[in-house]
Amino acid sequence: LSSAAFDPALRAADYPVGKPVGFALVSGALREIEALKHSGKGSRKVMTVILSNLFRTLIHSRPEDLAPTIYILSNKVAPDYEEAELGVGDSIVIRALCETFGRSEKQIKSMMASAEAKDLGEVALQSSQSQKRLMMPAKLTIEKVFSEMRAVAHASGKESQKVKKEKIQKLLVACREEEAKYIVRTFQSKLRIGIQLPTVMQALAYAFVLTSPARSGVPLVADTRKGTHKLSEQKLDEAMSAMDAAVRQAFSEMPNIDKLVGALLEGRDAKTLADVCSISLGVPVKPMLAKPSKGIGEVALRLSGVRFTGEWKYDGERAQIHVLSRDEIYVYSRNSENMTEKYPDVIKVVRETLCEGVQSCIIDSELVAFDLEAKKILPFQILSTRGRKNIQIESIKVQVCIFAFDLMLHNGTPLVKRPLEERRNTLWKTLTETEGKVKFATFRNFDELKEEDVQEFLDQSIAGSCEGLMLKTLTDNAIYEPSKRCINWLKLKKDYMDGMGDSIDVVPIGAFYGKGKRTGAYGAYLLAIYNLEEEEFQTVCKAGTGFSDEDLATHYNFFKGRVLKERESNYNVSDKLKPDVWLEACQVWEIKAADLSISPVHTSAFGVKADGKGIGLRFPRFLRVRDDKGPEDSTGADQIVEMFEAQASVGNDGGGGGDDD
Ligand code: ATP
Repeated sequence: LSSAAFDPALRAADYPVGKPVGFALVSGALREIEALKHSGKGSRKVMTVILSNLFRTLIHSRPEDLAPTIYILSNKVAPDYEEAELGVGDSIVIRALCETFGRSEKQIKSMMASAEAKDLGEVALQSSQSQKRLMMPAKLTIEKVFSEMRAVAHASGKESQKVKKEKIQKLLVACREEEAKYIVRTFQSKLRIGIQLPTVMQALAYAFVLTSPARSGVPLVADTRKGTHKLSEQKLDEAMSAMDAAVRQAFSEMPNIDKLVGALLEGRDAKTLADVCSISLGVPVKPMLAKPSKGIGEVALRLSGVRFTGEWKYDGERAQIHVLSRDEIYVYSRNSENMTEKYPDVIKVVRETLCEGVQSCIIDSELVAFDLEAKKILPFQILSTRGRKNIQIESIKVQVCIFAFDLMLHNGTPLVKRPLEERRNTLWKTLTETEGKVKFATFRNFDELKEEDVQEFLDQSIAGSCEGLMLKTLTDNAIYEPSKRCINWLKLKKDYMDGMGDSIDVVPIGAFYGKGKRTGAYGAYLLAIYNLEEEEFQTVCKAGTGFSDEDLATHYNFFKGRVLKERESNYNVSDKLKPDVWLEACQVWEIKAADLSISPVHTSAFGVKADGKGIGLRFPRFLRVRDDKGPEDSTGADQIVEMFEAQASVGNDGGGGGDDD
């Protein structure tokens, strides 16, 4: 994106410096993006420009509204690890609408059923537009909307439903134009216009290059091109891409919007941002991820001439352990959720096994169910039976062992930029191995690749109840890259070697009613992956196998309250595939398939491998629910392409169509 695409003249006069900014600025940007999306012109670039101009106005006029605006656009009120969920349910919103606009529940529901209203946001808009007002209420401000969002997210206890309803009502009364639509959608955590965090981050980076923030005591500088800096277009473009990279890196190490925006407003630039936004205690990062490899042949290709290590790949739950002090230890999931309450036993073990002299650290590990008597690793299914909240150590039935494999920070010093060999050496001096409680991942270093040695080590890992190996570069290109799926970590799974392929994480977006034995539940599901670039769910298969009777009942009970009135705008589904019901994209399932094939009906990686066709999965089978992943963490379209190419290169192009073609 070139700087030329951005609006050089901000309407600064409309937003006097220091005055609270109206929510209309945000809802106007959302309306513009939504309209462009509907007309098919809503590319990511266009969104970036609109959002960037919005941010620039705020940098100029009211910097303190910037972080709240980013939270609003991300459907959040706080970082993931703070567990402040918004997502107000339909029934509360319907009650708020009834009371604000003097309608009955029946009227609201019939508006929902009509073709004009796609969701409760649109019902709110129609109701607000048709309401006669004697006096115009005071303008809604970003500050007010955000503070009510926070209050709703934190409301708990008996009165919480009432509090939520009243807060939404208070805002709806004050809404003008399309604000009501976006207020309702915001509170329901469904903006429905497909803005993703990477786009927001890019827009933010560009905004800070184009419009400088105020420095203490110095008056605000408006636009870089019109203002004091007067950079050439080429220099500006370079500065924009440097800032884009810096903001992305900063947010991957410090995923906290308030801190990031604070640093940018302080005047940090691409060079100095990392000084304050780096990996920190108490702020979980998205973990580094591995690329799948299809076998030792590919490993040999990628790792020949490179020093690397193989580690057993344990099948449990990823855990990032933050030791702030011996008395303050937190455990975070792969998804940055706080699992401290779930694992009091892990906290105790870490406290007891920390080496002397260790004041603080961040450990990356896998928690695995462990049979202390038989001294044996237990399968993941056993681990998944553990409770999640308010667990008392005495009542724990499933014991876990911590298999530690990385160290991201040690005694206040970030280690992510250090090579794995050094991080691992320090890890060994951080915890003390203790039978059945703490163990370092079993490893073998390879100075040069000998396929038979890797094979032997793989066999040992399987015999040790592991899934296979993780192969990691040790010295060169061996830094820890948070949130990246990186070629410097390869996973080599036994299933892959058996030609069964890797499992795939998908999101159920539709369901088909069951017949025969399955009457009364959904008999099959329409499954999709998430395409981050296109910001949409793309189908990969329809699956009806691998479910036990209990699974079918559990899924039905989970999803029956999550049925949508119609297909979401970001579900890319062929007209040939119409499920009986559309489902909210809110759960991730791990499935396995026989292979991938070019599909005339499925839309994943559409057009990448064949014109007008996508890639589908053949003979999919349900394995398990992945509670540790959000819908956007499902397998990506690029991974689907890689898996397809990997199997094609071993002489199988998938042949026929998908399972349901
Ligand atoms: P991904 O995490 O790559 O999206 P996934 O969650 O489905 O995929 P896998 O494909 O099974 O998991 O492999 C990666 C996971 O393996 C890691 O996220 C981690 O939880 C686990 N793991 C087990 N042992 C190790 C190890 N030695 N090093 C790194 N990760 C390990």
